[in-house]
Amino acid sequence: MEELISALKKLPGIGQRSARRIAFHLFKMDEAELNDLGGLISHLKDGLYTCKLCGNITEHDPCDICDDPLRDRKTLCVVQDVEALTAFEQSGSYNGLYHVLGSSVSPLKDDDLSDEAAEFLVKHIEEVKPDEVIIATNPKVEGDMAYYTLLDVLRNSGVPNITRIAYGLPVGGSIVFADRFTLHTAIEARRPII
Ligand SMILES: [Zn+2]
Repeated sequence: MEELISALKKLPGIGQRSARRIAFHLFKMDEAELNDLGGLISHLKDGLYTCKLCGNITEHDPCDICDDPLRDRKTLCVVQDVEALTAFEQSGSYNGLYHVLGSSVSPLKDDDLSDEAAEFLVKHIEEVKPDEVIIATNPKVEGDMAYYTLLDVLRNSGVPNITRIAYGLPVGGSIVFADRFTLHTAIEARRPII
């Protein structure tokens, strides 16, 4: 039980009390349900890949988005993680390509954009040659740090237009939890940076 609680505590947003509550709840579930859940977790990564171009999670590489000829291939939207990509997709307000940074950028925690993440982005830009790169990291202190770090990388990449998603997103909020109208406004009202 203690091992399970420690494992659950590693999940985002789960502290000691929640982990304990979930562990006891699992203990009360019947065996078949528990096996189904365990099976889903243990097979989660079967047949799933990280897209070599954009970092999206996909069943085939490159992913459906990178492979879709109907998308605007001259616009690249840089997001923190696959959850943010999914949020933009569900909002239906963006039809370009994405780039998923993956690594968390937080110099406050001595955790800058890794060299690998920066190289991965530059490689993608060289491949796609976008006219515009939209920086769509979360508007919070950590996100702002991500923004400046990204800006340094992008300034040297020769992209003609670098924009950032604009108002509509609450500071301190997360793109993942924003509703589709808010995301729509944020994309539509993006502004040029350089
Ligand atoms: Zn992709």
